[in-house]
Amino acid sequence: MSTLSFHGAAGTVTGSCFLLDSGESKILIDCGLFQGSPELEDMNHAPFGFNPTEVQGMLLTHAHLDHCGRIGKLIKEGFDGPIYMTEATLALLEITLQDSAKVMAENDGTNAIYGIEDVEKALTMAKVIEIDKPFAYAGYTVTYVNAGHILGSASILLEKDGKTIVFSGDLGNSPEDLIQPTEYVHAADVVIMESTYGDRNHPNEDPTLILQNEINEVEKSGSTLLIPAFSIERTQELLHKIDHLKRSGKVKTETPVYLDSPMAIKATEVFRKFTELYNAELTAHTKTDDPFSFPGLNVIHRGKDSASLSEAIGAQVIIAGSGMMTGGRILNHAITFLPQENTRVLIVGFQGENTVGRQLTEGAKIVNIYGQNVTVKAHISESHAMSSHTDQTGLLKWFNKIKNTQKLILIHGEDGPREVLKTEVLKTHNALTIETPHMHESVQL
Ligand SMILES: [Zn+2]
Ligand SMILES: [Zn+2]
Repeated sequence: MSTLSFHGAAGTVTGSCFLLDSGESKILIDCGLFQGSPELEDMNHAPFGFNPTEVQGMLLTHAHLDHCGRIGKLIKEGFDGPIYMTEATLALLEITLQDSAKVMAENDGTNAIYGIEDVEKALTMAKVIEIDKPFAYAGYTVTYVNAGHILGSASILLEKDGKTIVFSGDLGNSPEDLIQPTEYVHAADVVIMESTYGDRNHPNEDPTLILQNEINEVEKSGSTLLIPAFSIERTQELLHKIDHLKRSGKVKTETPVYLDSPMAIKATEVFRKFTELYNAELTAHTKTDDPFSFPGLNVIHRGKDSASLSEAIGAQVIIAGSGMMTGGRILNHAITFLPQENTRVLIVGFQGENTVGRQLTEGAKIVNIYGQNVTVKAHISESHAMSSHTDQTGLLKWFNKIKNTQKLILIHGEDGPREVLKTEVLKTHNALTIETPHMHESVQL
C-alpha cells in the first residue's frame, strides 16, 4: 500500500508539496513556496517534514512559485533526483526560480533558504516530457495531461498495479484567454484535487469591458491607470486584450501602455515561443498580428526609465509587478500616483492578506509603502473574472468526469472553501471517502 503525505497546501492555498511513498520508491509531486502572510512565509524556513536525500525524484505540475518555489531548498538539502516537467514549464521555471532567488537574497540575505547556485543546479536536473505521452518512472506509468491553468501546466496521472492516482495540479478557468482548455481525466481510483475556489463561482462579468472602461476613463481625464499584474499569464492576457481593444478602436491607438516589469517581459518572450500551446483564437490571431504587441506599447527594461513615467503628461497605462503590490516597480508608481485624484487602479488577481493590493481593494485611505504613509485618492476597481483558477462549478465538473473513484483528497485550499466543496461533492457521491489532510499528515492510498 502506498502512503501520500502532505507537506504544504494542506489547509492553505500555497506551498504544494506531496510525498508519495510506494514502499519501493519515494517521489515528490511539486515543491512550492508558502506565500502571503508573514506567518505563512515563515513556514518556508521550517524543515520539510521528510528527508530530501531519500527522495528519488520529482514530478512538477507547473511553474507557479507556490508549486516550484522550494525546489532550491530541496537541492540545498541534498535532493539529487530528476525533475520531470513540460518544456514550457521549464522555460517559465527558469524565470520564476531565478527571480525567487534574487528576491530572497535581497530580503533575507544570508538567511535565504537557497541561492542562485541551487537554482542553476535545479535547471540542470530538469527532464522534459510531453503532454499525453506516458512514460515509466519509479515503478509507475506517468502521464501528464493539459490542466489549462497556465502555459505548460499539467495534471499528473500515476498508474501502478492496476491502480490509478491523479493529481489535478491547478485547474484552469477554461476557456482561458490564451491557452487550450483543461483536458479531462476519465478514470482514477484516487483523486487529489485543488480547492482554491471550492466555495464560490466567478462572477459573470466581462473583464475586457472592465479593462476598456478603465482605459477610457484615463483617456478622458488625461491621467494614469495602474495595473499591478502577475508576470506569467495575467500580463500576457492584458496585452492580448489591449491589442484587441486597440484594433477595434475601443481604446485610442495613441494611448501609451508601459510594460514595466523585467520578469513579465521575459515571460512574454516564453509565450511567443510556445505557439503550439495557444487556443484557437490566439492561433488565428498570430496569423494577422502579434497578439502581445500593439501601437503605443512601450517595454521598460531599465529602472531609470521606469522612474521617468512619474513625470509623464496625459493618459497612460502602466502594467507593473508585483501582482499583490508586495514589491517591484508598481510600488514606486503607487507612491507617485495613488495620491492623485484622477489616477485609476485596476486589480486583476487574487490579493493575499496584509498586502497593499488587498488594502486597496478593501478601501484603505492610507497605505504604507517602504515605511511611508501614502494617501489614496485614486479610484480602485477590481476584475474578479480574470482568474487562472476554475471555480466551484468547474471543480465539480472536472471531478464528475472521473469514473471509479474510491477516494478524493482535497488540497490547495483554505479550510473554509474545501469544506464547502466536500459538502457539495458528497451531495452526489455519498459513498465517497473524502480526505482534507493538514500539514505533515499522511493518507494511505
Ligand atoms: Zn498555479
Ligand atoms: Zn486574439
